[in-house]
Amino acid sequence: MKAGKKEHKLGMRASDTSEVLFDNCWMSADAMVGDEGQGFLNTLQVLDAGRIGIAALAVGLAQGAYEAALRYAKERRQFGQPLATFQAIQWKLADMATRIEAARLLTYRAAWLKDQGVTRTGRESSMAKLYSSEIAVRAAEESVEIFGGYGFMRDYPAEKFFRDAKLCTIGEGISEIQRLVIARQLLVR
Ligand SMILES: Cc1cc2nc3c(=O)[nH]c(=O)nc-3n(C[C@H](O)[C@H](O)[C@H](O)COP(=O)(O)OP(=O)(O)OC[C@H]3O[C@@H](n4cnc5c(N)ncnc54)[C@H](O)[C@@H]3O)c2cc1C
Repeated sequence: MKAGKKEHKLGMRASDTSEVLFDNCWMSADAMVGDEGQGFLNTLQVLDAGRIGIAALAVGLAQGAYEAALRYAKERRQFGQPLATFQAIQWKLADMATRIEAARLLTYRAAWLKDQGVTRTGRESSMAKLYSSEIAVRAAEESVEIFGGYGFMRDYPAEKFFRDAKLCTIGEGISEIQRLVIARQLLVR
């Protein structure tokens, strides 16, 4: 087993991602993770927990993008007044803050259920992951817009939030897969 090519990524560049090559790789039986025949079930349980982690990551990124935009909107003056005095900017900030609160609550709920020892939190984990990651992408985009031209420049943090947030809608299952998981649970009731 050896590390392969290091990937060149759009975002999350502070964390390396690399291929892992298994060539003629044999493992001894005592290296088995979990019980034989339980791999798929174990994987689903790992994803139930991992998706809460991605939801929390997305809430943090959305919060960072929002706080950067809020600060900049108070500092930057256009037409003789701070950007924050324009209603169009205020509405963006209000929507960002409201969506972040909702995402945080969905994430707390899923994490709380996990803490209570509930083994299958698929629906709640997917709801938290789906919503938090999608609002994070939206918040990051709105943050770029509030920064105007500087939103596109590496000198300010907005463009990094924009690049990093996108992974949250992909990692541990793309949004379509989260919708599939949620819908399946709704339909069996
Ligand atoms: C840098 C990075 C790190 C990652 N880290 C992790 C990690 O740690 N853990 C983890 O679990 N995942 C991680 N992922 C995500 C994982 O590797 C896959 O990229 C992800 O699960 C999507 O699978 P895929 O790339 O094969 O896309 P595909 O399955 O080929 O999907 C391509 C498109 O088709 C759509 N699609 C596929 N199937 C369906 C369907 N049934 N119904 C509707 N639409 C569908 C998808 O939504 C998507 O739009 C990471 C991804 C990246 C880029």
